[in-house]
Amino acid sequence: MTSRGRTAAKLEHLQESWIREMTRIALDCGAVNLSQGYPDFDPPREVREAAAKAVLEGPNQYAVTWGLAELREAITANLKRRYAPHFDWLDADLHITITCGVTEGIVAALMAVADPGDEVIIIEPAHENYTPAVHFAGATPVYMPLLPPDYALDAERLRAAVTPRSKAVILNTPHNPSGRVLTRDELQAVADICIENDLVAVTDEIYDRILYDGREHIPLATLPEMAGRTITVGGLSKTFSITGWRLGFFVAQEPWATGTRTIHDFTTICAPTPLQAAGVVAYSLGEDFYARQLEDYHERRDLMMEILSQTGFTAVNTPEGAYYVMAGYEEWNYPGESNDFAVWLAKEVGVAVVGGSHFYNTPGLGQREVRFAFAKKLDTLEQARDRLLKGLETRR
Ligand code: GLN
Repeated sequence: MTSRGRTAAKLEHLQESWIREMTRIALDCGAVNLSQGYPDFDPPREVREAAAKAVLEGPNQYAVTWGLAELREAITANLKRRYAPHFDWLDADLHITITCGVTEGIVAALMAVADPGDEVIIIEPAHENYTPAVHFAGATPVYMPLLPPDYALDAERLRAAVTPRSKAVILNTPHNPSGRVLTRDELQAVADICIENDLVAVTDEIYDRILYDGREHIPLATLPEMAGRTITVGGLSKTFSITGWRLGFFVAQEPWATGTRTIHDFTTICAPTPLQAAGVVAYSLGEDFYARQLEDYHERRDLMMEILSQTGFTAVNTPEGAYYVMAGYEEWNYPGESNDFAVWLAKEVGVAVVGGSHFYNTPGLGQREVRFAFAKKLDTLEQARDRLLKGLETRR
């Protein structure tokens, strides 16, 4: 008997991830990989040693579905200390769940919140995992752009995107790919709109420890009346440079806490247990670790900006947080759209980036810019500089 040969209708809206495709292209053609956002330097040694020890000595079996208690407690203590007196309500037994990365956290949150017929507002440019997450929930994405050059959040535009079917909004700060860190005023505008329209906010705060020029990260859940309507998603990947460990978490009050846990329970059971044990050690690192890491990220950002200005790129803005920058490529005299340019740059010049159009669904946006990820060794960035300088010569 032949199969009916058609995959689920929800897949019609989806294509493979171009961020990850660009990494595959980079590997194939030996390009310096400034496409997918992950560090090419090592995580802290004590964290790696803790993982090795946990694999050798255990725990190696399933953790409690909600996550290893010690890790939930460590993250809870960290949030309470950092944002006191907010998160005082947070009980490690009830309100926090360890996920397989932020990606799972976002999917679980949306599956728990949205139904077919509901709309979910995605603020773009946006990480390409948000749209699939909305479709997995059977809901409909509605796009609201932050506009370059300053990527400011226009409250009236956001308000105009709300309809009677709106159920949730996905918010990411520090922001990938623009590098924006939303201000308290911008966040308050989002909070006001959520409260006025009874929306749930699903926040992606994975870059909460990567901030430049003294900026501070403000979790939306710490704004008045927002704790009960926010699902805060965060993770260890970027803070501790362990993107391959797939450790994230979500924090929420009821009914979202149980709803998201239920989805997590039946999709992944638990995140890898020995790595969760090592995550506890990661959270025991002191303030000096974060301070040193910030200095290193400032160096990387500054070098990236210098390289862009020398190699025919026009940065749309200077990143305030996270580790990406969007840049135009007019000086390269390349007639094509951003994805073609990105593939060409990887194959012909040997530097992989991501086409800006992949971060937008609003037609026409992001087509003449590309995203650079700069969580890389200074040597790697220098290598990119050499190749870009040579490549640019051939275009003039
Ligand atoms: N967040 C990272 C990026 O934007 C990597 C995640 C992914 O592979 N989609 O590049």
